[in-house]
Amino acid sequence: MKEFIEHHEWLVVENTWNPAWNKISESIFSIGNGRFGQRANFEEKYSGDTLQGSYVAGVYYPDKTRVGWWKNGYPEYFAKVLNATNFIGIGITLAGEELDLAHCTVQAFRRELDMQKGALKRSFTATTASGKQVSVVSTRFCSMANDQLAAIEYSITPLNFGGEIRFEPYLDADVRNQDANYGDSFWVEIAKNAQKGGGYVVAETKKTGYQVCTAMQYKLGVNAQNVATESAHTTEKYSYIANQITAQVAQNQTATLTKYVAITSTLNHEKGALVSVAEAALQTAAAQGFSSLMAAQAQAWQKKWELGDVVITGDVAAQQGIRFNMFQLHQTYTGEDQRLNIGPKGFTGEKYGGSTYWDTEAYCLAFYLATAPQSVARNLLIYRHKHLQKAIENAAKLGFSKGAALYPMVTMNGEECHNEWEITFEEIHRNGAIAHAIFDYINYTNDQKYLAEYGLEVLIAIARFWAQRVNFSPEKKQYVILGVTGPNEYENNVNNNWYTNYLATWCLKYAIECVDYVKNTDKIANERLFAQINFEQGECAAWQNIVDNMYFPEDKNLGVFLQQDGFMDKEQILVKDLDPSQRPIHEHWSWDRVLRSVYIKQADVLQGLYFFEDDFDAETHRRNYDFYEPRTVHESSLSPCVHSILAAKLGDYERAHQFYLRTARLDLDDYNNDTKDGLHITSMAGSWLSVVQGFGGMRVRNGKLYLAPFLPAQWQGYAFKISFKGATLNIEATQKGITITNLGGAAAHFTLFDTEHTLEKDQTKSYNF
Ligand code: BGC
Repeated sequence: MKEFIEHHEWLVVENTWNPAWNKISESIFSIGNGRFGQRANFEEKYSGDTLQGSYVAGVYYPDKTRVGWWKNGYPEYFAKVLNATNFIGIGITLAGEELDLAHCTVQAFRRELDMQKGALKRSFTATTASGKQVSVVSTRFCSMANDQLAAIEYSITPLNFGGEIRFEPYLDADVRNQDANYGDSFWVEIAKNAQKGGGYVVAETKKTGYQVCTAMQYKLGVNAQNVATESAHTTEKYSYIANQITAQVAQNQTATLTKYVAITSTLNHEKGALVSVAEAALQTAAAQGFSSLMAAQAQAWQKKWELGDVVITGDVAAQQGIRFNMFQLHQTYTGEDQRLNIGPKGFTGEKYGGSTYWDTEAYCLAFYLATAPQSVARNLLIYRHKHLQKAIENAAKLGFSKGAALYPMVTMNGEECHNEWEITFEEIHRNGAIAHAIFDYINYTNDQKYLAEYGLEVLIAIARFWAQRVNFSPEKKQYVILGVTGPNEYENNVNNNWYTNYLATWCLKYAIECVDYVKNTDKIANERLFAQINFEQGECAAWQNIVDNMYFPEDKNLGVFLQQDGFMDKEQILVKDLDPSQRPIHEHWSWDRVLRSVYIKQADVLQGLYFFEDDFDAETHRRNYDFYEPRTVHESSLSPCVHSILAAKLGDYERAHQFYLRTARLDLDDYNNDTKDGLHITSMAGSWLSVVQGFGGMRVRNGKLYLAPFLPAQWQGYAFKISFKGATLNIEATQKGITITNLGGAAAHFTLFDTEHTLEKDQTKSYNF
């Protein structure tokens, strides 16, 4: 754990220069706008330790699978999010000497992420090897107001000399991924041009054929007066263009280069239009100027915060943590494009390929549902509907038939691209998370139109999968599910993982319910759908039979559900009795030892209790929590949030708060020693869940809103905003009690603790604890 980030309500600040932490900071200070994003690399050259990363959403490369023992059914490739054109680059030469912090003495350094306005700032004072001292201030952002645009303002002041400063704003598309399986480069140059004032590069991805045009325009001023001093522009380097501009800058004068960048891709435009669209965007941007673009950026962010801010008083570290998590989630996914999703590392690193996991449905959907316009969550679900045919093909490859769908564990375009057998073939619970997200969405919004148009088709295909994946055990005279991996990836190929069995059964039940609902309410949709997918009524009866006869492992003496058959055969040594030097166990133990141990990576049975809490009484929750949590090592970032919410439900507020801290500042304090690879974007939704569902006790049951907030002892108060059925509510808990304001839209109906209330628009009411 590191604690070099300064605590502040709205800013993330690093105030010291420590090259050993540079990659961590590059991740933490990442910026994006849902369409593209980047790590906080430096504009000027940096030859020290760095992970260069600029990513364009939806643009990926199918890197050929690399495994020791090929197994039938493996996907051909692992999709890589691509390190794309470096567009921030501005080389700086000070009277013939290149500026590179790796070769300077740094007197002052500050990196600052302004989460309120969506801007990354950096400033430093440094002395070069030959003794030239400069002060640099840079500000940049990826525009939320126009998601094709980014802008950088880079100012440099010579402090102990005057003379020629050369700026080289450039675009470099000759970039690679560090995680390439075979060291290949993934891009080829298609076109480029550099002329006075800017240029562009068009590059195409190998195999997938996406073209991305990155174009730039710059302006240079010395002490705010424009000087036209461009001396050259170059295009000779492969996939690279640059302008060279020299300026005579007297001591203590400031030269400022403003670089406007536009990014267009064949995801949204015809190949032939990429350059002209980018250039038109640049013209408009340059005419508007940096300050007015920055103002539009601040306004776009203000709208996001107005819908879903969380305010914590009395604990700045917690406040910064939750805002940071929300900020990163909003930068990763804006919900405007149904083809995009939320990669576990977003635009902050290469690992996990920027692909879609079950994380989206199990953790992220609830966040966007409550804090963004309804279309955002709807688009996340439509994304999976678009992939339905591929999920059916995926299931067919594994031997399933008749329209059964197995959604991939990891995907970019609907095809499975994960290739560890125990995950690819066995972690099938992901299918259930998708069905559960459909339930969550409809329960929250009552958007039944979505069910008839998209949702039911997905639910039926998922139900068909489960109906074929179970088998009837002649010995148990019940249905069983063999050879699976549950959410706890520290167990593979187990029989009857309780969570998977429960989820599968629930999926079948819910599908039956939805089939009936659409049949009774929307005849046209019903007929269209059934003609399309050859649905037979007998299918529901077969599903019901499975529902009625499913086997669930439990230990009746202990009164707990068993994670899987045979769980009690394991040596039952609790985590508290584990030598701390052996943790994390996956880094210290052989995989074989991890698998045989009792230790649980992340919520498994407890994930089921979290999803289906109303199916079980409080004592069942308590017994299972008390049994499983002491065996859980929380080595997935997705683990603490579920435990925080369950602890809150059980009234263990202290532990709820402790788990919250582990999720909210996971990356800011580099808890797991892996922030350098990128941020844990999907688990950030878990931090929000811990506050809103955990501390705020927010639930939606049968389409109705329930609240039951408590105040963690460490805080003076907190407030969160949610949108629900046309109203935006601000729910504030302080030591005095709870105040709820209906900020606008429709009248709000909710149950606070056990009493029903209605709040008209603009009305505020206070309630005692
Ligand atoms: C977790 C999975 C998760 C993946 C991506 C793994 O460590 O065990 O549940 O889907 O990370 O976040």
